[in-house]
Amino acid sequence: MSDFSFRRDWITKPIFRWARHVLPSLSDTEREAIEAGDVWWDADLFTGNPDWAKLLAFPAATLSAEEQAFLDGPVDELCRMLDDWRINWELGDLPPEVWDFLKAHKFFAMIIPKKYGGLEFSAYAHSEVIRKLSTRSICAAVTAMVPNSLGPGELLLQFGTKEQQDYWLPRLAEAKEIPCFGLTSPEAGSDAASMVDSGVVCRGTWQGREVLGIRLNWHKRYITLGPIATVLGLAFKLHDPDHLLGADEDIGITVALVPTNLPGIEIGRRHLPAMLFFQNGPNWGRDVFIPMDHVLGGVEQVGKGWKMLMSALAAGRGISLPSLSAAGVAFAAHTSGAYARVREQFHVPIGRFQAIQERLGRIAATAYLLDAARRHTCAGIDHGHKPAVVTAIMKAQATERLRVCVNDAMDVHGGKAVQEGPLNYMGSLYRAVPVGITVEGANIVTRSLIQFGQGAIRSHPYLLKEMQALEETGRARGLDQFDKAFWGHVGHSIANAFRAWGRAWTGGLFAPAPDAGAATRFYKPLGRYAAAFALAADMALLTLGGALKRQEMVSARFGDILSELYLLSTVLKRWQDEGRQEADLPLLEWCMEDGFATIERRLDEILANFPNRPTAWLLRFLLLPLGPRRRGPPDRLTEACATILLEPSATRDRLTVDIFRCGGDETLARLERAFDLAIKTEPIRHRLHKAHIRDVAKARQQGVINDAEAAALEAAAQAVAAVVAVDDFAPEELSPRRASQGEMLSQTMSRPTAAE
Ligand SMILES: Cc1cc2nc3c(=O)[nH]c(=O)nc-3n(C[C@H](O)[C@H](O)[C@H](O)COP(=O)(O)OP(=O)(O)OC[C@H]3O[C@@H](n4cnc5c(N)ncnc54)[C@H](O)[C@@H]3O)c2cc1C
Repeated sequence: MSDFSFRRDWITKPIFRWARHVLPSLSDTEREAIEAGDVWWDADLFTGNPDWAKLLAFPAATLSAEEQAFLDGPVDELCRMLDDWRINWELGDLPPEVWDFLKAHKFFAMIIPKKYGGLEFSAYAHSEVIRKLSTRSICAAVTAMVPNSLGPGELLLQFGTKEQQDYWLPRLAEAKEIPCFGLTSPEAGSDAASMVDSGVVCRGTWQGREVLGIRLNWHKRYITLGPIATVLGLAFKLHDPDHLLGADEDIGITVALVPTNLPGIEIGRRHLPAMLFFQNGPNWGRDVFIPMDHVLGGVEQVGKGWKMLMSALAAGRGISLPSLSAAGVAFAAHTSGAYARVREQFHVPIGRFQAIQERLGRIAATAYLLDAARRHTCAGIDHGHKPAVVTAIMKAQATERLRVCVNDAMDVHGGKAVQEGPLNYMGSLYRAVPVGITVEGANIVTRSLIQFGQGAIRSHPYLLKEMQALEETGRARGLDQFDKAFWGHVGHSIANAFRAWGRAWTGGLFAPAPDAGAATRFYKPLGRYAAAFALAADMALLTLGGALKRQEMVSARFGDILSELYLLSTVLKRWQDEGRQEADLPLLEWCMEDGFATIERRLDEILANFPNRPTAWLLRFLLLPLGPRRRGPPDRLTEACATILLEPSATRDRLTVDIFRCGGDETLARLERAFDLAIKTEPIRHRLHKAHIRDVAKARQQGVINDAEAAALEAAAQAVAAVVAVDDFAPEELSPRRASQGEMLSQTMSRPTAAE
């Protein structure tokens, strides 16, 4: 008997039997969610010893000449056509010429291959388009976003039959069809798999012939583009009571492409999502009959809907909402910095006050971080990855950080951002925050169940292999596979325990770090935390097993650490890719200090709440012997980051690159003009200050300044007044709107739903 078979038969076998008995098996929906997409840099982080050379060698995202021309051409032109106030408060929709432009220039076909008439853009180009549009109009950005993310287009590309692709994709590319995707229903939100929308396999009449098909009944809500969609990607539970397809009665979640003009469909009513007037609404189907070939992927794909949805989500959620969020934070950085520079209180620009700088510093560093993460994630997707855990991290973290920064920006602007009207450039972004938080997996679920819950299994070097071996039906084969995975896991854990301990006790002194100039020092602690995370995660899995699912607070904190590890890696990567810009170092350092403090705080909280106390004590001894030591960015660093937003510089430009600037007398142009004049007149104002004179006329009289300087000060003051101004309305301007809203509202409330 070889050593190997002795180990397998006498040591592994009892463990295998015990584990099979004790560990809960995965439900089908859990398995499909876990198996969707692939792993990428998240898997490196889970090893506890990430390979930094690999990270730095990963090619940065780039645009082709054609993609750049699209951004400089149609995207800019579209942005010029958009008037967010008019869209949201006067028209309640994009104007017809904007719809025509979106369709004509194939904004809805960015992911559709050229052979079907689409633009076939990279993920990065797609993201750049959404990013720029988001800085101009959230309503337009969301409208362009949806057909290019989770929806019929993406699903057809991944799962459609050739006939379906040949029929639908050219029509979608030409915008002859407007798609929407219907998953959510009143009963089933986050728990989408619990939907009651149903399809029954039956025979029916289709275009005058009797065919095998499905009779559908549904009530969906919150569906973006739904009110104007011509084709609905519908998710429902398929039943086959008469066994027309086979032995199974309950076939499971299925996706079909349903033309919205079929009899029995009611579609067109609208919701008002946070008073942003992109098209969004409910729809109903009563005994709607579709032939079997409308099932996405054909009859072979019945019951595979959940897997399709998870798979489509694996890439899509790393692009749309992170792009909108990165745009939102860059916009907040650009406007808050400029406003804080021109707005004076107590005779000082408010940006000079430390408490304002606290907010500005956070906004600036977050803008740097989110764009780093967005670019790296797009690069990964463009290299063929569908990193489900990374994209879940991106979706939740980007929208969450957008929330923090938009609130900061609102505070910096004070009443200027509160008073609605065409002069308010923050209102739409503020209202958009909860939309991003809620869609594509609401953030609480994503943080507490998906990031670590799925990551622990999916990205771990051995766990999924062990679980698959335990579920293997052939016992001998299962045992062999388990033996290999299990002992690999044991070796990995022991090595990691020593690594994590050594790095924690030496502050990461001997952890590997590439030669990355001034950033080299950040790799070592990051390596330390990766090892600590991997060991703590292993111990949590070992002691809690399947119960970890119910320990949502613990799981969420692990998710936060994993997120920080990912985001901080991308920040280091950005700094390297951009040629190690010394002037950007405060931003890099702020992100690192903030992330390190969060990691230590979360680790401390995990250990304080870890259900298995002896394990917690051991882990604390190994990983955090002196408790959390990191305190976050020091004030001088926050001040340095804030200052970047208060002065023109290449660093400021890098942070706010690609914000759409319309020029003319638009609100953003007014702000930029005032900022520019404030900077230019600063030396004159300084002279006035030294002479203890506030009044320009008096300063001129006393010869402190000359005529040209007085005129420059006057122009600057007028420019600032134009920025500080807010809208006001005559009562009669508001009351017709109120009346029509009230009318709309009362109609909605009194209207019986189809289900009733
Ligand atoms: C503007 C907008 C556009 C949308 N567009 C579409 C679309 O085009 N197509 C589509 O199909 N859907 C769409 N949705 C639906 C969206 O995906 C759902 O709103 C989302 O899945 C959450 O469902 P819910 O709103 O019913 O919240 P619920 O599921 O009721 O959740 C409420 C809260 O409970 C939390 N929660 C739920 N379960 C758990 C748990 N196990 N542990 C911890 N916390 C939990 C959630 O995180 C959330 O914070 C859209 C929604 C909005 C608001």
